[in-house]
Amino acid sequence: MINRAIDRLKETRYLLVITGAGISAESGIPTFRGNDGLWQNYRAEELATPWAFKKDPEVVWKWYDWRRGIIGKAEPNNGHLAIKKLEEIIERFFLITQNVDGLHGRTGIKNMIEIHGNLWRVRCERDGKTSMLMDVPLKSIPPLCACGNILRPDVVWFGESMPTEETQKAYNVMSLCDTLMVVGTSGAVYPVASFPQTVKEKGGFVIEINLEPTPISSIADISLFGKSGDILPAIVEGITGQKMF
Ligand code: NAD
Repeated sequence: MINRAIDRLKETRYLLVITGAGISAESGIPTFRGNDGLWQNYRAEELATPWAFKKDPEVVWKWYDWRRGIIGKAEPNNGHLAIKKLEEIIERFFLITQNVDGLHGRTGIKNMIEIHGNLWRVRCERDGKTSMLMDVPLKSIPPLCACGNILRPDVVWFGESMPTEETQKAYNVMSLCDTLMVVGTSGAVYPVASFPQTVKEKGGFVIEINLEPTPISSIADISLFGKSGDILPAIVEGITGQKMF
């Protein structure tokens, strides 16, 4: 199976990679599924919503502080590094990540959007300004914007619509790619959840990498089951003929 993926990637002209929480799991960052995604018995779906923030901004902010504490100690893993290498070796390349942890960016990858935002950035809903959290005075929880309004994490919460510009870009690259590789996502979050089907309908090829079957598996041309931190470097090594690590 992996050899078929390698052969396909060798002849790919435009590769689109989509990643989800699974790619960062080997960096020690919990996915939203399973008990390690729980915080003080709250499920992520109860906290990552505009309604939760409106009701109790302090508790939502503290949950983000907890997540930033884990992510701040994490490093990009072999899967993130292999994706960066794919950018270097494939003619045209784009990455759409659903992750908000910023780990892809730390590999130096260039052609990427973080479609669900980044939890190191904050936004004021009143004046629309965004800033990096480290540039904001942390005098209260949540901290305040210069305009006096409370700041929120600059991420897309459940029940919110995607940022228009990023969504447009995502649809554009999806329409251009001839191979789509979907890594470590349960395939439940739209709009990228619909991309495998659309890419197939326009004659493209879909490769999935996940620990276990997902709704994408029945659409994908190839599903590779295992850890992305093992499979992605093996793919890169198959393309280049050189050991990655
Ligand atoms: P998800 O939690 O719904 O699914 C994670 C998927 O990754 C599962 O299908 C699981 O089988 C797979 N997986 C776990 N470990 C893996 C590994 N080592 N190799 C390959 N696959 C592995 O995640 P999702 O589909 O991305 O959707 C959840 C939403 O939560 C996303 O929008 C994302 O923004 C957010 N989220 C982000 C982070 C992060 O930034 N690291 C973490 C948790 C959730």
